[in-house]
Amino acid sequence: MRQHDALVIGGGFFGCKVALELKAAGLRHVVVAEREKQLLSRASYVNQARIHNGYHYPRSFATAKRSRDNFQRFCRDYAYAVSNGWDKYYAIAAGSKVSAAQFQRFCAAIGATCQPAWSRIGKLFAPDLIEDVFKVQEFAFDAAAIRDRVQRELADAGVEVLLGAEARIVAADADTVRLTLGGEPATARHVLNCTYAALDAVGCRVTSRIKRELTEMAMIRPPPELDGLGITVMDGPFFSVMPFPAGRCYSLSHVRYTPHASWHDAADAAPAPLRSNAESMLRDSARYLPGLGKAAYLRSLFEIKAVLARNEADDGRPVLVEASPTSPRILSVLGAKIDNIYDVLDIIRQTVWEA
Ligand SMILES: Cc1cc2nc3c(=O)[nH]c(=O)nc-3n(C[C@H](O)[C@H](O)[C@H](O)COP(=O)(O)OP(=O)(O)OC[C@H]3O[C@@H](n4cnc5c(N)ncnc54)[C@H](O)[C@@H]3O)c2cc1C
Repeated sequence: MRQHDALVIGGGFFGCKVALELKAAGLRHVVVAEREKQLLSRASYVNQARIHNGYHYPRSFATAKRSRDNFQRFCRDYAYAVSNGWDKYYAIAAGSKVSAAQFQRFCAAIGATCQPAWSRIGKLFAPDLIEDVFKVQEFAFDAAAIRDRVQRELADAGVEVLLGAEARIVAADADTVRLTLGGEPATARHVLNCTYAALDAVGCRVTSRIKRELTEMAMIRPPPELDGLGITVMDGPFFSVMPFPAGRCYSLSHVRYTPHASWHDAADAAPAPLRSNAESMLRDSARYLPGLGKAAYLRSLFEIKAVLARNEADDGRPVLVEASPTSPRILSVLGAKIDNIYDVLDIIRQTVWEA
């Protein structure tokens, strides 16, 4: 039977980085079990690739501030994967939950750059639907580049990676967790459940309530006048279009059309989308940014998004690191956004790991 010091379930960005941290903490046999055929192929790849710098969270000051702190660090540590050769703008829609003046005050309060956009940029927007446009500092990350680097780091550190290996927790006592790994029995002294949308579907209960959304992001090629621009229209049922470096294209998400379904129950099995919402996304976004009417639609990426139910109203994105009620040897980790990795690793570092 396979016996591990630590088994990390889920080979997304969080699972891989947690495994590296456990190895650095002195655990000898650390294994990442990933049920897909590739690491970082689920939410760590299928997302908007935004390196958050606070702007997105005017309703959660704590998350905005934390994003600001992590932004510089992330851009330095993952410089090889940072895409910043384009300009980013936040446009405030008429009828937004924050006014342009409030947005400016909010940016000042979190210490984030926010300058009025040049009139050349302002002219790209429908004047009756947009109150104001600001140039900000926000970048994108290349998930494929991070995957390549993390893969090398895991190999160099001697972390074993099992692909196509579904893990399920069977039982746990004070000393050991028993699992099945690819259908075979296995044990581990510690289990780190880093399965994001599947957090309470691997055989351990998670007491924090999690909301899931089946989401769609449209991959597009913008027309020349929008090339080199990232644009987020705030704050309400609007949209974001920005470079998607891993796909060498742009992603478009829309607050109204990106979610296809949402549910609070356990399990990551979601109803398959019956049809794409890309046409609606493009049509509605083009009302605010008419150039998008000339964008070429390439394809859609679907993924299940997981957020803490208690943050539904304020949009906050704290991390969750929760010990299982049945055994302190099982920790469930929900990262919520990529730059939160530092908050998770801090907690892992402060934990005492018995070899
Ligand atoms: C539509 C969307 C847009 C987003 N936009 C952004 C953004 O712009 N910026 C940002 O910072 N964050 C964004 N996020 C959030 C971000 O993607 C996640 O916080 C992050 O990817 C979570 O990483 P992870 O490693 O926890 O999850 P994942 O990458 O999903 O990894 C979990 C892994 O667990 C595996 N797994 C599940 N069950 C099992 C099992 N039983 N056995 C073995 N393996 C299993 C899965 O196959 C998966 O690979 C977005 C998310 C979505 C869905």
